[in-house]
Amino acid sequence: MIKQGQRIEGVKAEGRTSDGKVRRLTVRARATIVSMGSFLSPVFLMRNGIKLPQLGRQLSIHPCGVALGYFPNRTFDHARRIPQGFGVADLAREGLMFEGGTIPLLAHGMMSSLAGSAYTRFVENYPHTAYFGFMIRDTSRGRVRPGPHPDFPLITYWMNNTDLSLFKRGIRELSRMYLAAGAEEVMIPGLRHMAVARNENEVDKYLAKARSPRDFTISAYHPLGTCQMGVNEKFGVTDASLQVFGTEGLYVMDGSSVPGPLGVNPQVTIMALATRGARQLGKKLA
Ligand SMILES: Cc1cc2nc3c(=O)[nH]c(=O)nc-3n(C[C@H](O)[C@H](O)[C@H](O)COP(=O)(O)OP(=O)(O)OC[C@H]3O[C@@H](n4cnc5c(N)ncnc54)[C@H](O)[C@@H]3O)c2cc1C
Repeated sequence: MIKQGQRIEGVKAEGRTSDGKVRRLTVRARATIVSMGSFLSPVFLMRNGIKLPQLGRQLSIHPCGVALGYFPNRTFDHARRIPQGFGVADLAREGLMFEGGTIPLLAHGMMSSLAGSAYTRFVENYPHTAYFGFMIRDTSRGRVRPGPHPDFPLITYWMNNTDLSLFKRGIRELSRMYLAAGAEEVMIPGLRHMAVARNENEVDKYLAKARSPRDFTISAYHPLGTCQMGVNEKFGVTDASLQVFGTEGLYVMDGSSVPGPLGVNPQVTIMALATRGARQLGKKLA
C-alpha cells in the first residue's frame, strides 16, 4: 500500500508476464478497499504494517455437520433436486440451522471410513441415502495470520465444549428427523469411523460416547470476522463505515468485516454491508 502518514493513497503491485518480465503497477486512489475475504484480507493488512489487537482474530466459521439416513425402500433422485432450498429453521434462535445439501456420488464414497464389502454396500446404497446437514452459530473463535508460505495464511481454530454440545444436538435432532421419516439406519460419519444407529437410543448412546469434534465429520464454509466492525480498536478492526481504525482512506468490505457468526448463510449480509459501506464512501468522496 502507498502510505503518507496515516493516509493510504493507493497500492503498488508487482507481477511477471508470461515471458518472465517483471511488471509494476501503481494505482493512486483517494480510497482503497480491501475485499480479499476473511482469510486473506487480514493477512494483507498485516503484511502492510497494520497493527490492531483484533486483526486476524475473532474468526467464526459456522461449523457444519452431516448425518445420513438410509431408506432402503425409497430411491432419491439426487441429481434432480435443489436440496439447499429446503431447511428447518425451528431451532435457529438456539443457533442450529438445518439445510439440505446432497453431495455427488464421488464425494459420498469419501464420506465414510469403511473398507471392503461394507464400503461397497455404502456406495451402492447412494440412491437410497438421504443427505441433510446443519450449521451451528459458533462461540469458538479462531485466528488467521501469515503462514510459512507467502500465498497461504495460517488458520487456527479449536471448537470449544459449548459448541461441541450444540453440534451434538444438531446430530441428534437430524437423526430423529430421519428416524421419524422412516429411515432404517442413521449414519453419523466421523474422521475415524462411521457410527450406525437404528433408533434414538443408539443415537444417544453414540453421542454420549463421542467426546471430540474428531468423532464427527465437520466442515465449514462461512469464515467471518477477522477484520470485524467494532466501536473501537479494542473490539474491532474497522469502524461502522468499514474504514480501518487508525488509517484514513483504507476500507475492508467483505466477510472479514462482518462480526460473525450470523447463524445463517452470510452472502446477503456481506453484500448488504458492502453496498452500504460503498454508498457512504461514495457520498464522502463526492
Ligand atoms: C462451498 C461453499 C458454499 C457456500 N454456499 C453459500 C451459500 O449457499 N450461501 C451463502 O450465503 N454463502 C455461501 N458460502 C459462503 C460465501 O461464498 C462466502 O461467505 C462469501 O463468498 C464471502 O465473500 P467475501 O467477499 O468475503 O470473500 P470471497 O467471496 O472469497 O471473495 C474474495 C475475492 O478476493 C480474491 N482475492 C484474494 N486475494 C487476492 C489478491 N491478492 N489479489 C486479487 N484478488 C484476490 C479472491 O480470488 C476472491 O474472488 C459458501 C462457501 C463455500 C466455500
